Amino acid sequence: MLHAVIVHYDEIALKGKNRNVFEAQLIRNVKRALSGCGYRSVEKLPGRVLVYLRDDADVIEIQKRLQQVFGIAYFSLGMEGSQDLDALKENALRLVKAYREPYRTIKVNTKRSNKAYPILSPDVNAAVGAHLLKHIDAKVDLSNPDLTCHIEIVNRTAFLYLGRINGPGGLPVGVSGKVGTMLSGGIDSPVAAWRMMRRGCRTDFIHFYSYPYTDKSSLEKVIRLVELLTSYQFHSRLYLVPFADVQLQIVTKSPAKLRVILYRRMMVRIAEALAQQYGYDALVTGESLAQVASQTLQNIRVIESVATLPVLRPLIGYDKNEIIQQAERIHTFDVSTLPYDDCCSLFVPDNPATSAGIQETELGERELDIPTLVEQAIQQTEVREFSS
Ligand code: ATP
Ligand code: MG
Repeated sequence: MLHAVIVHYDEIALKGKNRNVFEAQLIRNVKRALSGCGYRSVEKLPGRVLVYLRDDADVIEIQKRLQQVFGIAYFSLGMEGSQDLDALKENALRLVKAYREPYRTIKVNTKRSNKAYPILSPDVNAAVGAHLLKHIDAKVDLSNPDLTCHIEIVNRTAFLYLGRINGPGGLPVGVSGKVGTMLSGGIDSPVAAWRMMRRGCRTDFIHFYSYPYTDKSSLEKVIRLVELLTSYQFHSRLYLVPFADVQLQIVTKSPAKLRVILYRRMMVRIAEALAQQYGYDALVTGESLAQVASQTLQNIRVIESVATLPVLRPLIGYDKNEIIQQAERIHTFDVSTLPYDDCCSLFVPDNPATSAGIQETELGERELDIPTLVEQAIQQTEVREFSS
């Protein structure tokens, strides 16, 4: 008898010709996520992935880690055993007895992938159900049971499993290319990064800081955020870009009301130079439409116009409340709300432009030596690697 985790995915199943690629990536990610937890092997079955566990497997830790593997719709703890009806009865009973949550009603749900199996599914349900009721204190409820014991008759064996534990959904990290997320230390950009990873991207992180004009609190925050986010993709890289010199140039050489927009345009230029150097297919920001002055459509347009790569904004249509809820679910909220000095609020006037024109902005940048500023920033950038 083998203890197993049965992992189900949904969207991958729709992927036609690329399905193998998606499944192979999911299996790699599951193996990586569970390393050190005591799994024996990870195998592909039609439409699902099976993780065989050793007897000493840390089942609690395994559940926690699988909930961070994108591409998993849900999974169940279970076992594999003989197809023999008596064995099915005994194994179902063993499994149900190990179930920790309280329940009053139960149902047995049998599926036969192996159509040659001689007993029809409803008959297996009836026989196993009757056996369970003899030994446990529960009633049958076929429409809305507290606990369902699933039995799947496959080629030579049978899988039995209880209930469903939700996974994070999405696509396996690694199937959708590589992006660079501009990570500020605020609430939004970690959520944006998470959403891109959930769509199968690997992301590295780019952070701009204004030390010595601000303290180094934003650095500590982004490091903690990257640590949290790394558990979804196993490895991350963080670029720490000193931005004070650039800001000082903008403050002394450009109109005050354009400062935030000019900061942002310089951030995008520097991020894009890093992206070209390290091979990212797109930049990602945590912008949400009209949330603050720099995120009006007008300003987004003016900021984006210096980019040649796509600038992806997965949160563009989200309300702040929705972003906060998501940040809480992925545990970045508490770090994001620690106090810090935001480089973008440095030397910013009370009335920043909400609708700068491109011409006006370019005029405001006339005195800046942009290529040199970008080059210097890149040269001073510190790179840190993270592994989970
Ligand atoms: P966040 O909560 O992510 O900070 P925000 O609502 O505070 O977002 P802004 O401060 O206007 O909005 O920033 C918009 C986006 O610009 C951020 O989501 C992030 O992607 C990028 N950004 C802003 N400041 C920085 C920074 N210091 N380093 C890297 N990216 C930044
Ligand atoms: Mg911010």
